[in-house]
Amino acid sequence: MTDQASGSATPAWLALDHRHAWHPYARAPAADPVYPVVAARGVRLVLADGRELIDGMSSWWSAIHGYNHPVLNRALADQAGRMAHVMFGGLAHQPAAELCALLARITPGRLERVFLCDSGSVAVEVAIKIALQYQLGRGERGRTRLLSLAGGYHGDTFMAMSVCDPVTGMHRLFDGVLPQQLFAARPGGAPDGPARTEDVDAFAALLAEHAPRLAAVILEPVVQGAGGMHFYSAAFLARVRELCTAHDVLLIADEIATGFGRTGRLFACEHAGIAPDILCLGKALTGGYLSLAATLASDHIAATLGAGEAGALMHGPTFMGNPLAAAVALASTRLLLAQPWSREVARIGAALRTGLEPARTLPGVRDVRVFGAIGVIETERPVAMRAITEAFVERGVWLRPFGRLVYTMPPFITGDADLAQLTGAMVEALASCPPP
Ligand SMILES: *Cc1c(COP(=O)(O)O)cnc(C)c1O
Repeated sequence: MTDQASGSATPAWLALDHRHAWHPYARAPAADPVYPVVAARGVRLVLADGRELIDGMSSWWSAIHGYNHPVLNRALADQAGRMAHVMFGGLAHQPAAELCALLARITPGRLERVFLCDSGSVAVEVAIKIALQYQLGRGERGRTRLLSLAGGYHGDTFMAMSVCDPVTGMHRLFDGVLPQQLFAARPGGAPDGPARTEDVDAFAALLAEHAPRLAAVILEPVVQGAGGMHFYSAAFLARVRELCTAHDVLLIADEIATGFGRTGRLFACEHAGIAPDILCLGKALTGGYLSLAATLASDHIAATLGAGEAGALMHGPTFMGNPLAAAVALASTRLLLAQPWSREVARIGAALRTGLEPARTLPGVRDVRVFGAIGVIETERPVAMRAITEAFVERGVWLRPFGRLVYTMPPFITGDADLAQLTGAMVEALASCPPP
């Protein structure tokens, strides 16, 4: 029964997982195998059979410092020794206070007010609620809709789903349930190149037409993540900022994937030199240790909202501001800022560019692109998930493609040899099992 003792590759509990657990975006029981992982350290996941895989996913953008980091472990253990949790209603504690202050200081613009919540999707819900309550606070009762970009991803809760891409999102599935939002065409252009005129014109026309009914524009700055691993011109984002201001519509930047250095700037808004009115953070906030997210807004927005009928922001999750999560987020963010992270991100970007280049000539490959520490191979047709996952694991790497996208955003501590193995495995696996 026991795994390593009997030399078996399969621990007994894996049957329990198969029988009872629901995995993300999976049917139950799961159709594809899942890999039993028993430990993680540095950039490696340790499987039950002892095999070690270089993690190219950072557990979905989050584990930027790698796993089992002594500094983060200590922050968590120290906090657990004091208090694991207390309610945030009517109580305050040091880890949350210091985290809020740090986030206010390092984020673009003057976003002085921080709402801590449990997950990215909830941070998006809170951002939208802040925008709606802000409009109510200044007597704009008709400003209830949102304008987003095609190809975006903002989370899986219902209001967040409503602003995800209307085709690849779950709009058809939940037709009649999701609020109808507005979508501008997905912008193009290189991140550091000029905005495409047609993108700006189309966005400006849509905004001009609907501004009186819009509470906010919501978008992922420069990098659209789960909606297609797509990069677009930062100059377009700069124009969006100007247009939102001109039309008196709030701008919500969803930096849940891009925040904390991943794109080469601490926050992707910095590529455009802009500040949003409302900002969402998550994923790498705790260095991948615990679920925590944050929504930031200006004092002006907070004050206007507070002047409304409700008199308060109407949100308050049970585990809001959890001290363990806040303590590890504080430690992770301080650790990041104390390091030459931008040099590491540039080093990883260069290694991804070199390592993924050979994929360009593979049959069935449409595009290879790298920005910051994000590397993407886009194929013509969806990859065969099971076969390609096996091919990755055989080559000692962990990657989780979706659809036509094989991509990596490794931990910032990934060394050059590991990056070479990672990119080599991506190219070889695609060559050995081309998209069917
Ligand atoms: C992952 C993600 C979310 C949702 O965050 P969860 O923690 O999964 O709820 C929202 N927006 C963006 C841009 C994301 O990448």
